[in-house]
Amino acid sequence: MNILVTGAAGFIGSHLVDALLARGHRIVGIDNLSLGTRENLKGALADPSFTLIERDIASEGFPDSFDAGCQIDRVWHMAANSDIPAGIDDPRIDFKDTFLTTFRVLAWMRKHGVQRLAFASTSAVYGVRDKPIEEDSGPMLPISNYGAMKLASEGCISAAAEAWLGRADIFRFPNVIGSRATHGALFDFVRRLRRNPLQLEVLGDGTQQKPYLHVGNLVEAMLFIADHAKDKLNYFNVGPEDDVSVRAMAEEVVAQTAPGAKIVYGADNRGWVGDVPKFRYSTAKLRKLGWGAQMSSADAVRLAVREIAAENP
Ligand code: NAD
Repeated sequence: MNILVTGAAGFIGSHLVDALLARGHRIVGIDNLSLGTRENLKGALADPSFTLIERDIASEGFPDSFDAGCQIDRVWHMAANSDIPAGIDDPRIDFKDTFLTTFRVLAWMRKHGVQRLAFASTSAVYGVRDKPIEEDSGPMLPISNYGAMKLASEGCISAAAEAWLGRADIFRFPNVIGSRATHGALFDFVRRLRRNPLQLEVLGDGTQQKPYLHVGNLVEAMLFIADHAKDKLNYFNVGPEDDVSVRAMAEEVVAQTAPGAKIVYGADNRGWVGDVPKFRYSTAKLRKLGWGAQMSSADAVRLAVREIAAENP
């Protein structure tokens, strides 16, 4: 198949590209390199089945002017703003990079008759919940512009599935961690400790508690859903059932990279405005389909710290 991957140079997009190439597909990657890097695609760029096109998907002219160079069979839309605090400070960032990218990708797909879309959504669409979150439970009231623009994207995908799109798979990721990370708490902790190995300052009081999924497990889960889900519009929580605290993560990073460093916590139970401090997923729907995460949140953190530390010496 010919597959278009948006956000191909990013953390998750680049791992997805590697997995799709390993399955023998021809991949066109598109990225504006605002957050992603060519370095993430080092292996893929050496493969003749991969092409990287540097473009801004959110630009108005994208649906009319973008030429993938071949008839695309499927689109995996991974591009978005991944800096959630930046989107709180300036809501235009998520409007453009999280929502408009989806809107324009859909317009391009419609124009070119591409019938199948896979979409990277997020736990942030749910907002704050006090029980393990099931896909169909409770009001969808996000507390960040990022979550709001992902929810709006899901709405547009649902409308497209009603009108013209043949099939859509929506994956609601928790926090995803692992090699090639471009952002996130673990990445931030490792970089801070490299700058000052004596002390780690943590945003929030360390009690934030969430599920963490290793990127390898995430890519497997997405491919599993793409292969096995049967509905025209599929939406799944993807993650482990358990969670891990920011305190435990900070301690793991210190133990692996700067033993003995002092950890200094903030006063608030949120890392930043728009941060959902605690949540747990119900992954019963995905387990019923046949996939469960092999790694617990704590195991994923241990492995990801090793990987991120090795990449940031
Ligand atoms: P990332 O920032 O590493 O990757 C996103 C990529 O999209 C980057 O390479 C960036 O340059 C590109 N991009 C952004 N705006 C663009 C635009 N207008 N035109 C073209 N390219 C653009 O982030 P990631 O963690 O790999 O995230 C991938 C997807 O997964 C995103 O949709 C994100 O919202 C979603 N997600 C990630 C997590 C996580 O914990 N990493 C959690 C939930 C959802």
